[in-house]
Amino acid sequence: NSDTAMYQAKALGRNNYRFYSPEMDAKAADRLMLENNLRRALERNELALHYQPIVSLASGEVVAVEALLRWTHPVMGAVSPARFIPVAEDSSLILPIGEWVLETACRQIREWDRSGSFHGRIVINLSPRQFRQGDLVQRFTHIIKRTGIDPRRLGMEITESVIMENLDSSIRMLQSLKDMGVEFSLDDFGTGYSSLSYLKRFPVDKLKIDQSFVRDLVNDHDDESLVKAIIAMAHNLKIRVVAEGVETVDQLEFLREHRCDLYQGYYFSRPLPAHELKFPQYLPRPNEPNAGSSL
Ligand code: C2E
Ligand code: MG
Ligand code: MG
Ligand code: MG
Repeated sequence: NSDTAMYQAKALGRNNYRFYSPEMDAKAADRLMLENNLRRALERNELALHYQPIVSLASGEVVAVEALLRWTHPVMGAVSPARFIPVAEDSSLILPIGEWVLETACRQIREWDRSGSFHGRIVINLSPRQFRQGDLVQRFTHIIKRTGIDPRRLGMEITESVIMENLDSSIRMLQSLKDMGVEFSLDDFGTGYSSLSYLKRFPVDKLKIDQSFVRDLVNDHDDESLVKAIIAMAHNLKIRVVAEGVETVDQLEFLREHRCDLYQGYYFSRPLPAHELKFPQYLPRPNEPNAGSSL
C-alpha cells in the first residue's frame, strides 16, 4: 500500500526517500505481474528448453548441450531468463519449474537415444533455491528413475555462492548425485568469491569461465592473464575448463593456445530448440588413420 510506503519513507528520513520512489513501485508491480503469469506458465505449456552445444577444443566434437529455459507468454511474447528466473527464484516457483526442466531434459535424452543422433550429456542449471531443498537428491533420483535414463547422461551447473552458503551439506548433495554419474560444473566462475582454497574442496568436474572474461579476450590484457591463470589453476586441480560466450575466432584461438578444454558460444551455435540442432560428425584430425579418406 503506497500510503504505508510513504509513511515508512518519511519515518526513515530524507535520504531513504528514493527507496520508495514510483519507479520502485512499478518494479515491484512488474515482478508481481510476472509471478502471477509464471504461476500458470507450466500448466499452459508456455515453457520450453533450448539447447546450446558445448564443444571440445581438441576434437571439435559436441560433448554436451546446456539446457536453457525459454518462456513465451501469449501476450508478452518471449520473456528473457534474466527477467523471470529471479522472480521464479524469489517466489519458489523455481522448484516445480526446476523439476520440469529435469524431466524435460530426461525425456529429450530418451528421444536422442531412440534416434541415435546424440550420445552426449544434457547439462541443466540448478538455482540456489533448489539446492537449499533438503530432499533435492531424492526428488531428482525419482525423476531420473521414472524416465529411465542413465544418470551419466546428465550434468548440472551451480554457482559458487550456492555451495558457499552451506558448504558441508552442499558437498554431500553434490557427492550423492556424482556417485550416480551426474557431472557437476561451477557456473559463472570468476564472478563470485573465487576462493581457491574452497575450490579444492568442491568435488566439481568442470569450471565455466564467465562470459564477461571471455568477451574482452584479445583486447584486454588483464582478462587474458586471468583466463590463463584460471585454466592453469583448474588443470592443477584436475578440473576441466569450459569457456562460455565465445563469439569470435580470435577468442577461440586464444583459448586453444592456452589449452582450454571446451567452449560454448554464438561462434559455434546459439541455444536452439532440439529439432533445430545439428550434430556434426566427429571430424578426424589430420594424423588419425581415417583422416581425409572420405574426401
Ligand atoms: P548461464 O547458465 O550462465 O547461461 C549462459 C547464458 O549465456 C545463456 O543466456 C546463453 O544464451 C548465453 N550465451 C551463450 N553463448 C553466448 C554468446 O556467445 N554470447 C552471449 N552474449 N551470450 C551467450 P540465457 O539463456 O538468457 O540464460 C541466462 C541465465 O538464466 C543462465 O545463465 C542461467 O543462470 C539462467 N537460466 C537459464 N535456464 C535456466 C534453468 O533452467 N534453471 C535455472 N535455475 N536457471 C536458468
Ligand atoms: Mg549455466
Ligand atoms: Mg554460465
Ligand atoms: Mg553466465
